[in-house]
Amino acid sequence: MKEFKDHQMIYEYGKEKGLFPVPEINQDKFIEKMNKLNKKAKKLNCPQVVFEEKERVLFRNKDNALCFILYQINHSEQIKINGWIFTAKLECLSGGNLISKNPSCKEEIPIKYRDISFSICEHCNINRKRNVLYIVKNETTQEFKSVGSSCLKDFLGHASPEHIAEYSFSIPSEEEFSDISDYISGSIPIVSLQSFIAQCISWVRKEGFITKSMMIEHNNQEYESKNYISHTGYKAFDVLTITNYQRMDYRNKNIYTEDDYKKSGEIIEIMNRYYDNQPEKDIDDFNNNLRVILKSGTVSYKQDSISAIILMRYYQVIGEKISYWIPENEKQKRASEFKFLNNEYIGTIKEKITKQVQIKYISEKSTQYGLIYIYKFISEDGYKMVWFSSNNINKNIGDKLYLSGTIKGYNEYKSEKETIITRCKIIS
Ligand SMILES: [Zn+2]
Repeated sequence: MKEFKDHQMIYEYGKEKGLFPVPEINQDKFIEKMNKLNKKAKKLNCPQVVFEEKERVLFRNKDNALCFILYQINHSEQIKINGWIFTAKLECLSGGNLISKNPSCKEEIPIKYRDISFSICEHCNINRKRNVLYIVKNETTQEFKSVGSSCLKDFLGHASPEHIAEYSFSIPSEEEFSDISDYISGSIPIVSLQSFIAQCISWVRKEGFITKSMMIEHNNQEYESKNYISHTGYKAFDVLTITNYQRMDYRNKNIYTEDDYKKSGEIIEIMNRYYDNQPEKDIDDFNNNLRVILKSGTVSYKQDSISAIILMRYYQVIGEKISYWIPENEKQKRASEFKFLNNEYIGTIKEKITKQVQIKYISEKSTQYGLIYIYKFISEDGYKMVWFSSNNINKNIGDKLYLSGTIKGYNEYKSEKETIITRCKIIS
């Protein structure tokens, strides 16, 4: 079974394979939902959604292990009434229209439907504020039309088109089943986009950032995938709403600074201007959705991942390289590390030396003389040293100490020259 150290990566893995991950603890809920959906489909005489278990993977970190089931969901059949196909649903927010395409719809939705001022039902031509509009397409003429939910019945001449419309978009979303920590507790908090982006900036500065491709390539070995941008968004939202605060034991609250907040305001302004100046045809649905969030100026937990991507897009737009941001504390740690610079031996055999060293490697080995500890060091001036000792010095990798000892011999390991020392004393 394939293993992942972060459950976020399972969603990326699923996306790549076109599979839908469901945590095992939510499997019953998922199957119940699919059965309900298919019952509804049968009643409405709509095509059923076929779902099939394809693969099981394991999420395992220090504290948890949880199986995820990857389903193939087949909803390729179009849902139509009297020759009109349900293609998309518009949610009209104050910043523009969020577009949710029907999973079976493969083509682009006309861009006029994104417009902030667009909330006309093209059936009755009444322009009033609506929360939801459906976009349908005529299968013969290919004409698109927006229809308000109250007009669906009149337009399509069918007894219960609202139900069919609702059904056609009720394919499960990842969010519904991805909850593995009782994350959402009833109320839906909303934060301002400016403080949200500020929080993302603060998080990235302190924790770093990697791209999706790096995350997959490294499979977390070098950096935790918590540094992936959508995870940054999730954390940022969490910090701001303190949803998980008590449970997550943040030692450092990681709250953004005034400078972060100012910078965030600039980013929002620059990105708004950027999108205003882009020809509409160059903006795809994904960027449209970023733009909608920018114009709306607020973020709810449903949009935390996508909203964080605004920060990444900003750096792309201004042409700054963003492939790998190393966090400040990591930079400091690296800068203070002793580095292997001198691939040479030290002194002569039997010579006594004293050096400041950093422990790079510790292991133990049982021999006919008993347990032997192997310590490898890098000295402050960049030489590699090895000490075989019967003593456990009770230090950790990364610790720095002053060491005196006698040169016993020389060794080459993977073409790196190591000076073997013996009868060592730890001075401090
Ligand atoms: Zn209407």
